[in-house]
Amino acid sequence: MEAYLDHAADTPVRPEALEAMLPWLRGGHGNPTGSHSRARAARRAVDEARAQVGSLVGADPGEVVLTSGGTEADDLAVHGVLDAVGGIAVRSAVEHPAVARPVDARGGRVAPVGADGVLDLDALADVLDDDVRLVTVMAAANETGVVQPVAAVADLVARVAPGAVVHSDAVQAAPWLDLPEAVGAAGLVSVSAHKLGGPGGVGALVVRQGVPLTPRVLGGGQERGRRSGSHAVAAIVGFGAAAAAVADQRHATARRVGALRDRLRAGLVAAVPDLVVTGGLPGPPRLPNVVHVAVPGVAAEELLFLCDAEGVAASAGSSCASGALEPSSALAAMGVAPELAAGALRLSLGWCTTDAEVDHALAVIPAAVERLRRAAA
Ligand code: PLP
Repeated sequence: MEAYLDHAADTPVRPEALEAMLPWLRGGHGNPTGSHSRARAARRAVDEARAQVGSLVGADPGEVVLTSGGTEADDLAVHGVLDAVGGIAVRSAVEHPAVARPVDARGGRVAPVGADGVLDLDALADVLDDDVRLVTVMAAANETGVVQPVAAVADLVARVAPGAVVHSDAVQAAPWLDLPEAVGAAGLVSVSAHKLGGPGGVGALVVRQGVPLTPRVLGGGQERGRRSGSHAVAAIVGFGAAAAAVADQRHATARRVGALRDRLRAGLVAAVPDLVVTGGLPGPPRLPNVVHVAVPGVAAEELLFLCDAEGVAASAGSSCASGALEPSSALAAMGVAPELAAGALRLSLGWCTTDAEVDHALAVIPAAVERLRRAAA
């Protein structure tokens, strides 16, 4: 038995996306920029996908800039705005490295979060001034699943720093939240296909009309000059189909997965003595698919090792390229003590998570914790 509980890192391709991609994977369809009929068919397929992605976010197709993924979308948002208008960027303290690193590289400011992981709007107001040209706050946090008040951020920015554009990284939120409602007020929104049931290697930055943006990738002028490079047609078609499937099924999936998440979390709280639910219970609004806990006295990497041996795949925090488990800056920003953060575990469910997987995780995780604690005693 296996339980894949790392959907926030990467979720399986949905059947609708796979079906849509298959005819295009053979290639030979021509380059969508070409003028012959094959190329025009490929262009129509890309444009249909663009409309499907736009519809999920609540954007016009012309506002969708296709990229190689969430990281490139975030990078384009931060550097693109600062290159166009200068000034300073402000980010929340819990941003994914794809946002945090570009902002920090440009000497940006950081707005703190509370112990519940929610952005502190008063503290944000304190770091806003006329120099600020970009404010970036994720729709939901990749580690804890905590939902951020992006609409309130946009309101505040409009009042206090009206020259600034709001960007929201909606990579984790996209499968679960009503995006037009959650991030509709943001001028820039990032999404990524492989987090919502599309293939890896494709994503989008929604750039609302009138938002100033200097391109990062120059070349053939694709994406209306905002991001050059030949389109990955099959991947883009899969992205569109996945976005459409999310739009169709989101309510039902979120309800079903939310119930599984509740059962998993309650089962762990009951079976693991001293378990700490990050952000507390009931705590702030969270995505319906994430359980984030810390196990006092246990090192997450040892726990993950034992879980993996029993077929339970989870994560110690955000996944990172090196696989190294570095202390989480997001947890530090929430005031979680380093000793506790060392035992932090993220279990993330997805569109295809089953009851049996939750049962298996509940059989494996408490037993693994007990084994580690006994060994350490
Ligand atoms: N932003 C957030 C919040 C994420 O969780 C991730 C991936 O973990 C990314 C950006 C990066 O997206 P991608 O993997 O498509 O580059």
